[in-house]
Amino acid sequence: MNVQTTAAGLSELPAYLYDLAALRAHVRRVRAALPGRVELYYAAKANPEVPVLAALHGLVDGYEVSSGGELAHVHAAVPDAPLAFGGPGKSPEEIAAALRLPAVHRWHVESERELHALAAAAATAARPVDVLLRVNLPVGGGALDGVALAMGGRPTPFGLDPERVERCLSLLASPGFAHLRLRGIHAHLASGLSAVEHLRVAERIVTWSAALAVRHRLALDEVNVGGGMAVDYDDPDARFDWPAFGRGLADLLARHPSLRLRIEPGRALTAHCGWYATEVLDVKHSHGEDFAVVRGGTHHLRTPATRGHSQPFTVLPVDHWPHPWPRPGVTDVPVTVSGQLCTPKDVLAARTPVAALRAGDRLLFAMAGAYAWNISHHEFLMHPRPAFHYLPDETPDHPARAP
Ligand SMILES: *Cc1c(COP(=O)(O)O)cnc(C)c1O
Repeated sequence: MNVQTTAAGLSELPAYLYDLAALRAHVRRVRAALPGRVELYYAAKANPEVPVLAALHGLVDGYEVSSGGELAHVHAAVPDAPLAFGGPGKSPEEIAAALRLPAVHRWHVESERELHALAAAAATAARPVDVLLRVNLPVGGGALDGVALAMGGRPTPFGLDPERVERCLSLLASPGFAHLRLRGIHAHLASGLSAVEHLRVAERIVTWSAALAVRHRLALDEVNVGGGMAVDYDDPDARFDWPAFGRGLADLLARHPSLRLRIEPGRALTAHCGWYATEVLDVKHSHGEDFAVVRGGTHHLRTPATRGHSQPFTVLPVDHWPHPWPRPGVTDVPVTVSGQLCTPKDVLAARTPVAALRAGDRLLFAMAGAYAWNISHHEFLMHPRPAFHYLPDETPDHPARAP
């Protein structure tokens, strides 16, 4: 059964629907586009639902987690999967918890304070720890001009400035740091990058890391170039150009024979596999504009509010109207789709043209598989939570489970 048919038949709305078969097919294509020396990790913060994590199992090389909560959750969902532990502000409790988990395969160290704390904790635990230093690298030459969420080369709480990386290297060479094994460099410098832009960024990170390795006579043969592959909410059929990206990475690897690359996308893996289905409660005309008010809203699907876009949707017409009073509706006009919250910010789609829309029709919002339910302010106004459906309902390998 496809998503539209399922959404049309649901008795309980709003609901999230995840097409896990489509997710697996998509990630298989991503994997096939990448050269063998590129490891694919999934950034769990994009969507940490257990069936999603389980569906990715075996298709990704590991999972990137950025908190003690994600660490425990992802490890419970996929116990044998390698984890990379990142995130600014790792607390002593989180460091201790991560040290107890052999699944933590790499640590992305974000500051000198963290390096000290990790070295001390690793010495106490008498456990070797494999470290990548996260660098906040200026990406010159206009490589990131016009990118929505550039974090590299500007003041941020993330990672280490390049000169601080050099200081960390001195620390790592000193006696108290013997349990830390420096494997390489990590960087996550922007999100919303096209394949061409991401390749420029990756090239810059690799070149900088190689020069650092030469200067310090180190074997830094591992570079994680982050996530941030673009997703186009204006065009649900568009995809990040994975084949071009894979070819570019192959070219980069050919110039660095001992290099191992890792990427950790979130959004570009799961955004397209999730849908938010709901129904139109009311259609009204206000001071010259048309509004459709739906059951639910941005407290379930916050993505359009945080990014300031219109979430793409299709109308699933429902012909039956059971009430004796007139059915409000519009034809061939732009409509603003808002939710049930008492704030003008509760807009899922602004002035979006529709051919026909009536109270009682259903709307199916696409591209709701990443940074959607899990970033939303569920408690605000105390409306009920949506239902969750995972398609196919059950696969032999991974029985679907509600969160
Ligand atoms: C959020 C994040 C990612 C994933 O970013 P996407 O834009 O979802 O691909 C990867 N790495 C780090 C360090 C992050 O913070």
